[in-house]
Amino acid sequence: MSAVDTINNLGAMLLSGDVEVVDLAGPLGPETPLLKLPPDLGTNTPTIEIHKISQYDENGPWWAWNWLKIGEHSGTHFDAPQHWITGKDYKDGTTDTIPPQNFVAPVNVIDCSKESEANNDFVLTADGVRAWEAKHGAIKSGEWVVMRTDWYKRNHSEDAFLNMDENGPHSPGPSVDCIEYIIEKGAIGWGSETIGTDAGSAATFDPPFPAHNLMHKADRYGLASLSHLDKLPPKGAVIIAAPLKIVNGTGSPTRVLALKPKG
Ligand code: MN
Repeated sequence: MSAVDTINNLGAMLLSGDVEVVDLAGPLGPETPLLKLPPDLGTNTPTIEIHKISQYDENGPWWAWNWLKIGEHSGTHFDAPQHWITGKDYKDGTTDTIPPQNFVAPVNVIDCSKESEANNDFVLTADGVRAWEAKHGAIKSGEWVVMRTDWYKRNHSEDAFLNMDENGPHSPGPSVDCIEYIIEKGAIGWGSETIGTDAGSAATFDPPFPAHNLMHKADRYGLASLSHLDKLPPKGAVIIAAPLKIVNGTGSPTRVLALKPKG
């Protein structure tokens, strides 16, 4: 099929509903859970603020609008390569310089929901990814790999979402060899439903925070705090994940969308 036919058919199928659009973003507001860094490691991102400028009143009789105070890495968001020190030298590594072709790509959805419910510290390994590929097919170069955990169901509560105790946060994520393996496969990015792309325990890994350290070192991307991955098939969906075009931005809240066949 030609690209012209494909786009025409896609347009028609979006209108008919044969292709569905799935919202993979969570709500963005003052209640949105935000990362809490370990004490003494650094400064936290501020609470999101939405300030009214006018609402059909003396400050603007015919219109409503707000201004926002918000960190780049808040809510459902995109991590650009320059977010991490290992990716700091990539000229195409900020939100305004990434080629837009990279914002739309097929997605592989690895279901770890049962494992993550049984063990909040569940870590997906390269062997786990290989077992998934044996069942669903190979991950191809340029595709996203995302970890379904159903963790988004906790996003109404920062306490439940961060799941911290005296030993730190407990949330699922990828191992070092998992990230090494998907980079080898050519994945364009790694996504998760948790506060960041890494596991809660990832500060103790070698290297620490592999989804940040290794992905961004390879000029690849991250998606954090995704929602509704349970609505996607293991393969066969395309995601649109375009960060705001923030000048020299290291990331951005993003309305991540997926296109999938109906049903
Ligand atoms: Mn981030």
